[in-house]
Amino acid sequence: MLPFRTSLAGIVWPAIVQPAGATLLALLFQLEQSQWLAHERLMEQQFLQLKALAEFLWENSPFYHERLADAGWVPGQSITSDLWLRIPILERATVQARRTELIVEKALNMHGRPLEYSTTGSMGMPVQGLGNELTHLFNSALIVRNHLWHRRDLSGKFAAIRCKVVSNDFSDWGRIESSAFVTGPAAVLDSSTDIDRQLDWVQAEAPVYLLTYPSNLRSLLLRARDRAISVPTLRELSTFGEMLPPEVRRLALEVWQLPVTDIYSSEEFGNIALQCPQHADRYHVQAENLLVEIVDEHDAPCAPGAIGRVLVSTLHNFTMPLLRYEIGDYAEAGSSCACGRGLPVIRRIAGRQRNMLHLTDGRSHWPAFSYKGLQPIADFRQIQIIQHQLQDIEVRLAGIAPLRSEAEALFSVKLCEMLHGQFPIRYSYPATIAPSAGGKYEDFVSLVKDSG
Ligand SMILES: [Zn+2]
Repeated sequence: MLPFRTSLAGIVWPAIVQPAGATLLALLFQLEQSQWLAHERLMEQQFLQLKALAEFLWENSPFYHERLADAGWVPGQSITSDLWLRIPILERATVQARRTELIVEKALNMHGRPLEYSTTGSMGMPVQGLGNELTHLFNSALIVRNHLWHRRDLSGKFAAIRCKVVSNDFSDWGRIESSAFVTGPAAVLDSSTDIDRQLDWVQAEAPVYLLTYPSNLRSLLLRARDRAISVPTLRELSTFGEMLPPEVRRLALEVWQLPVTDIYSSEEFGNIALQCPQHADRYHVQAENLLVEIVDEHDAPCAPGAIGRVLVSTLHNFTMPLLRYEIGDYAEAGSSCACGRGLPVIRRIAGRQRNMLHLTDGRSHWPAFSYKGLQPIADFRQIQIIQHQLQDIEVRLAGIAPLRSEAEALFSVKLCEMLHGQFPIRYSYPATIAPSAGGKYEDFVSLVKDSG
């Protein structure tokens, strides 16, 4: 049974939850049911909500009035898939350049206080957006849904290592969670902390759950293996903020015998898709909060198995709505899931344009290179591969002494095999490789401009 928090003196069970917690539970009760709706029924509900938003924007947002009119929509009309595809895609540059036009004055305090967010800027200029207390509530419900999907013991200790935090200990998992549940304690640590100190911290905190970035988790696991450190209290590892390479899942099983649960999220939207509780190789789009599309080079929806650009639309943000916003990620569309949930499936997040390797024949792809295949040649702590030009690849290996030239040559042969191309490769040996702005770590970056 979940540990509901009662707020009424003398009433222990069943709990009478205080109003904010009760609203959260009311949302979760609906989410529990909506996740099983057929895909078509979910889309109908999404379009009903988007129609309500469109009616409001028609009157109150010249920016969206124009876009809706261009798509051929008039007030009172239903929103259909065909009409939706005619709404222009919203580019990041447009949001940056026309930010003030995207803010709807009339909605500033309509759904609670406006709340600012800012993207990290690893893609260049950050996007500064506005949500509100209601959008925050929806995302909180999705955070709790993730806990429930993965059957977490809310009384356990939760630890997170992430950027933009002040390292601290807390008596509960957070304001939202504790409004409805009695939770265990939590602790956070800044991810810029030295990896040995991070490991000591995890050992000392002895959490049941640990949340961090995939690259940081990899470093922790490698260090734990070297130092033969185990954390017996840990039951599950969670990752977010970067692509999770399959290799990190394998490493977690090998070193700590633990599963990894991944989250696809962003600053703009919070939780976009959550790992299926039954199938670790897929994500379910959080369709009750966002409409997510995966489109090809002609802006047409991708069939299952195809990789395309991710477009995200907010269903409930009236303050600064983002409709058909191109988030900058590529993902593989999935088909239905055997778990029975109707929530759309993403098979994998492929990464960003800048993480694509460019070949001399004009093709490009997201490289998959195996650490396990390379580490017998060089036992590096971190690796970063930078494609400066089509025929100029730099491999940066941190945490080891420079390789002898024969070892470099062997490394190059193995790496070219994995990259499916022939490249001249040069090496550098920094002490460490720092994450880019916002704490994100990319193991492959191409600086070659996309010609397509
Ligand atoms: Zn599923």
